[in-house]
Amino acid sequence: MVDKLYQLTAHELHDLISKKEVSCRDVTESVLDRIRSVDDRVKCYVTVTDELALAQADNVDKQIAAGEPLLPLAGIPFALKDNMCTRGVLTTCSSKILHNFKPVYDATVVERIVNNGGVIIGKTNLDEFAMGSSTENSAFFTTRNPWDIDRVPGGSSGGSTAAVAADEAVIALGSDTGGSIRQPAAFCGVVGFKPTYGRVSRYGLIAFASSLDQIGPITKDVTDCALAMNLIAGKDFCDSTSLDVPVPDYTKSLIPDAKGIKIGVPTDFFGQGVEPEIVNSVMKAVEVLKDLGAEYKETSMKMVDYGLPTYYIIAPAEASSNLARYDGVRFGLRSDDSKDPITMFLKTREEGFGPEVKQRIMIGTYALSAGYYDAYYLKAQKVRTLIRQDFERLFEEFDVLVAPTSPTVAFKVGERAADPFQMKLADVLTIPANMAGIPAISIPCGYADGLPIGLQIIGKSLDEATILRVAYAFEQATDYHKRKPEI
Ligand code: GLN
Repeated sequence: MVDKLYQLTAHELHDLISKKEVSCRDVTESVLDRIRSVDDRVKCYVTVTDELALAQADNVDKQIAAGEPLLPLAGIPFALKDNMCTRGVLTTCSSKILHNFKPVYDATVVERIVNNGGVIIGKTNLDEFAMGSSTENSAFFTTRNPWDIDRVPGGSSGGSTAAVAADEAVIALGSDTGGSIRQPAAFCGVVGFKPTYGRVSRYGLIAFASSLDQIGPITKDVTDCALAMNLIAGKDFCDSTSLDVPVPDYTKSLIPDAKGIKIGVPTDFFGQGVEPEIVNSVMKAVEVLKDLGAEYKETSMKMVDYGLPTYYIIAPAEASSNLARYDGVRFGLRSDDSKDPITMFLKTREEGFGPEVKQRIMIGTYALSAGYYDAYYLKAQKVRTLIRQDFERLFEEFDVLVAPTSPTVAFKVGERAADPFQMKLADVLTIPANMAGIPAISIPCGYADGLPIGLQIIGKSLDEATILRVAYAFEQATDYHKRKPEI
């Protein structure tokens, strides 16, 4: 048997499983052992579903033994951000308010993974309700960056991302509302993909900002990202915002060159306090793509500056509405020593939500209140249209845009926790794609003082295939994705 199965990618494991060199149980056990040996330091998981995972793995092994065709994700261990519903398994959103919440149904993505042979290995830590950029807003604990245990993994999908980087999962799913897949992927040196809004069903994803939320894969390489996309993308009648358009086989777009690709480099993405090493790495990456046959040109996108302020009206507004459902009545925490229902609602929300979530509910409620709606929410929606149009203008000329994912590398735990503005600046380069609803990926493109740097590739609406092609070409020509942190 091959040792260190947990270090392999999904496509490498698929080969071994198809040749019957290893069983699905071997793979699952290897990843569970890895979790046991490092998760006390990295702290990715809120819940490890070991029994469920082994039962699922055995089930797939039985299908293989019975000669059934090998499913695309047969025996691949998946981690899920803990804002995705799993039937009968604790789902916390890393919040006290969902105390003991066990959903009665699986999110569509979970169903699709399991139906394709995948194994659910556990639920990962996040900033409470996905609000944050470091996992420090989790009500439970802070996840650590596998490259430096004193640093944050980014957020809000920090648990899922650190799990892939630390080989505690083969593939993970995260959600990206303003950057929560890409920014942690950049901090942890892995691949993180936010598909077009509506490409992947949100059914069973606990809502933060419904017009922005999108589920996507976090993987060790671009091939695994394409494999995961093949299975999670597509129309779902349970989510009316999911798009009814054909899903291509993304693995077909993995060509190791970038011939004929027109790349735009919007200089405005480089002026947002981006560290010089990051500018260097990203520009070097652009040169690599040029050597692979792409053409590139510097361009400008002035609306980048408006992404962050607009986001911090729209996202809290939607959050304040979505989070109104946590009132102690139907699920989760209930403050039990209240004399009347109103006091019960108030005390439950007071005790159950952390400070960041409360702040956003207040901002959102304010922005939506009579008299302010036009000045804030409506105005922000108009600016959002302008951001989308600015992207559309660029995509008349370019196939993809290339930029840094984050202005900085991973920061120290505690360094920004006391300064909410600095924390929010972590997403200044990822938010624009969410505002426009367009797809974007982060892949590793360098290291500064041993800490990973992320390259962001932004594409046209529904053109995930071109992004994956460019990302794959870059990956094949470099070896940044092969480095592993020492934990
Ligand atoms: N960091 C951003 C926020 O706190 C984005 C979060 C996300 O994408 N879920 O809102």
